[in-house]
Amino acid sequence: KPVILTCAQPTGVLTIGNYLGAVKNWATMLDDYDCYFGVVDQHAITVKYTPAELRKNTLSCVAQYIACGLDPERSNIFIQSHVTGHTELAWVLSCITPIGDLQRMTQFKEKAAKLGFKVAEGDGADLKFSHEGARAQASVNSGLLMYPVLMAADILLYNADAVPVGNDQRQHLELCRDLAQRFNHNYSETFTIPEPFIPASGARIMSLQDPDRKMSKSDENQNATLYILDDPKVLQKKIMSAVTDSGSEIKAADDKPGVSNLLQIYAASSGREIADIEASLAGEGYGTLKKEVADAVIAMLEPVQARYKELIADKAYLEGVLKAGAGVAQKRAYKILSKVYRKAGFVERP
Ligand code: ATP
Ligand code: MG
Repeated sequence: KPVILTCAQPTGVLTIGNYLGAVKNWATMLDDYDCYFGVVDQHAITVKYTPAELRKNTLSCVAQYIACGLDPERSNIFIQSHVTGHTELAWVLSCITPIGDLQRMTQFKEKAAKLGFKVAEGDGADLKFSHEGARAQASVNSGLLMYPVLMAADILLYNADAVPVGNDQRQHLELCRDLAQRFNHNYSETFTIPEPFIPASGARIMSLQDPDRKMSKSDENQNATLYILDDPKVLQKKIMSAVTDSGSEIKAADDKPGVSNLLQIYAASSGREIADIEASLAGEGYGTLKKEVADAVIAMLEPVQARYKELIADKAYLEGVLKAGAGVAQKRAYKILSKVYRKAGFVERP
């Protein structure tokens, strides 16, 4: 079976966009692929964070994924820091990665800019960072720059055939492929060149407050986002105050992004066709549409929330899952890491 590796940062609660657009589809791949799911806690410390929260979020993240359908009996769920090899391989890869390649990464530039760094476009490969005060300098740490190398190591450590990636990770996967090719060329054939994996297309869910933008878990406007662990009352309130469009017809159309998004959410949550929903709501107002959308979302999330509650209370079960997952992951990781170490010229461990 082809190996698929999926990594997720333990950043808070998933949105229904993550669920409907991604996680639900990952759950359908479990039988056809050898699936590894890594919760990448080592990536999470590249930005300012609170250790106690990271620990809590990491476990919550594992429970959320299982609650969303990632069956640990049919996949390997592990925490990155439990497997020796991610950072080790990242080090070897970093020694074949030009600094300029990392400074060019869009996500790095964006994150650095957010932290108060001005990124000046240089002529050619070199980007100059004009430092804006000591605080900004301290927060743009070298881990943030190295992030894509660690991500490449995450993937190559398992010789993954494919990696599901969203648009924002495409450039990082490209770097990963470059590094794999470079290593294979400089040393000898070692790594599989991973392909981007586009799973059966899930729904693309837009922000409730600005339907031209996608729903994101990091959106500052809490009303824009439906989190899978939101209380039913909260879900309802957010949906009832969603932005709609002028006119009153309930119809998916380009000039009706708000209504289209609500219909999309309704369809994806209920399994019904948009045309069918439009027909059944003909002549009704936006208020009725929103009420039905809320009912559909709440009904969809009810079993997920119930399962999550069970899981998060059962520490022994979660530990068991993580132990088994890390065991399988570690075995595969060691195999590849020792091959890399041998090729790199390190003396074999006695
Ligand atoms: P962040 O705001 O931190 O970037 P996010 O909500 O965009 O969070 P990611 O962690 O970037 O989530 O993405 C996780 C997965 O969810 C990816 O596969 C991505 O394509 C998918 N995804 C994210 N947002 C949506 C959305 N609104 N609709 C459909 N799929 C989505
Ligand atoms: Mg994103």
